[in-house]
Amino acid sequence: MVYNQVMENQLKYDVVIIGGGTSGCACAYNCAKNGLKTLLVEKNNFLGGLMTAGLVVPIMKSSVEEINCDYYKELIKTAKKYNAQITYKDKNDGWLNPELLKIVLEDVLSFDNLEILFETSVLSVNKKSNNIHSIVLNSRMLSIPIEAKYFIDATGSAEFSIQCGCELLNDNNNLQQNSLRFILGNVNLDEFCNFILNVDKDENITNTYRNDRDTNNKIHFTTACTWDTNKIWALDKYLQKGVKDGILKEQDRAYFQLFSVAGGDNQVAFNCPRINNYRNNPFMYSRELINAKRAIWRIYTFVKRYFPGFQNAIITNIATQTGVREENRVKTKYIFKKDDLLSSREFNNPVLVANYSIDVHSDKKDCSILQKTNSYQLPIESLMSYNFDNLFVIGKILGAEFEAHSALRVQKSCMSMGEATAKYIAKINI
Ligand SMILES: Cc1cc2nc3c(=O)[nH]c(=O)nc-3n(C[C@H](O)[C@H](O)[C@H](O)COP(=O)(O)OP(=O)(O)OC[C@H]3O[C@@H](n4cnc5c(N)ncnc54)[C@H](O)[C@@H]3O)c2cc1C
Repeated sequence: MVYNQVMENQLKYDVVIIGGGTSGCACAYNCAKNGLKTLLVEKNNFLGGLMTAGLVVPIMKSSVEEINCDYYKELIKTAKKYNAQITYKDKNDGWLNPELLKIVLEDVLSFDNLEILFETSVLSVNKKSNNIHSIVLNSRMLSIPIEAKYFIDATGSAEFSIQCGCELLNDNNNLQQNSLRFILGNVNLDEFCNFILNVDKDENITNTYRNDRDTNNKIHFTTACTWDTNKIWALDKYLQKGVKDGILKEQDRAYFQLFSVAGGDNQVAFNCPRINNYRNNPFMYSRELINAKRAIWRIYTFVKRYFPGFQNAIITNIATQTGVREENRVKTKYIFKKDDLLSSREFNNPVLVANYSIDVHSDKKDCSILQKTNSYQLPIESLMSYNFDNLFVIGKILGAEFEAHSALRVQKSCMSMGEATAKYIAKINI
């Protein structure tokens, strides 16, 4: 069935963004702010992508200079209104509540010249030489033909670029591990923090913070533990005991990271379990998701038994979007190199100036990489499709080498990519 009741002006846009996640929302906000008639297409019934459906918190500090951070600032300001944000003691104000963010984002993106289509994805693409002329959207039972001057792929998986027939980068045999994040509720944070501070006395790994103004007098913390031997992991003796007692499996020690949740009293978000990334094998991929839920149950049983404060914990959320760190990177006009990043190469009109580390999650012991960097810049050409002149690719599908990508994929940098692209289009569209 073709949608025939829409007004003519609902079928033509300056910009269509496919994917209303981390980078797509930043792009939509800035397109609308800059007067572009914008359509944001999202397959879920809410915005946020990995920030909401993937339960990924917090936004890592990455910007060195505040370039293309207008959206970030607006997001933080609005999240405060909904009691969905805290500022941590390292001054990182990017601690957000993933569930409330679904409401916050719709508030941030309310513009007359911005339309959002939920539960919609792309059915087909109509190309004319180096341009995408129009697309047909599939919104539940309806097909909607849409024309636009510019298209943005913000799907996190390059699904739209693949539909268009774009070339992908195939420069690495390494794969980042995936994770399926989850949240426990009903945790006594004070009791748990007293326990970890006692175990991890020098706060080598653990950070706890309570400040009336910044945290509404609620305690907030982070802690971590991995099976890599590059640090003294204070919690590891408990995990090893869990393995010995048959509650955990050896691979559950691979990566174990916990955060308190802004505005989520008594909640703890887990950045684990890690699972293998079988991106070219949907059967293996799906089996890993079953394994992930089994691992969540093991970790849940373990923390209830071994960690004070978790006795009455309940599982409140399991991410509905798999935590895929890297999947497809699109061939762009310029492929950003690891050398560009390490040499702090400068570019005209940078998209961002950041310093988040090279961060590769390996499936092998002692093979993960967390390498500090100096500040680096990213050029807009790494967001311009090589194959189509009016297609941009933003967020974690940008055109960058594998290790450079591992630094650029954090949320604040993805947001700057969306923002820079919107501003660039607004400039060339006049
Ligand atoms: C396990 C894990 C932990 C991480 N931890 C952190 C962290 O602590 N801090 C940090 O800053 N970063 C972290 N990151 C990185 C960061 O979260 C991501 O790289 C970033 O959010 C990616 O943004 P994106 O816009 O590319 O994709 P997403 O945020 O995933 O957005 C993609 C959107 O597109 C939609 N979509 C997909 N296909 C279609 C389609 N065909 N049609 C319509 N819509 C579609 C999806 O539903 C989604 O809303 C982590 C990543 C992972 C996987």
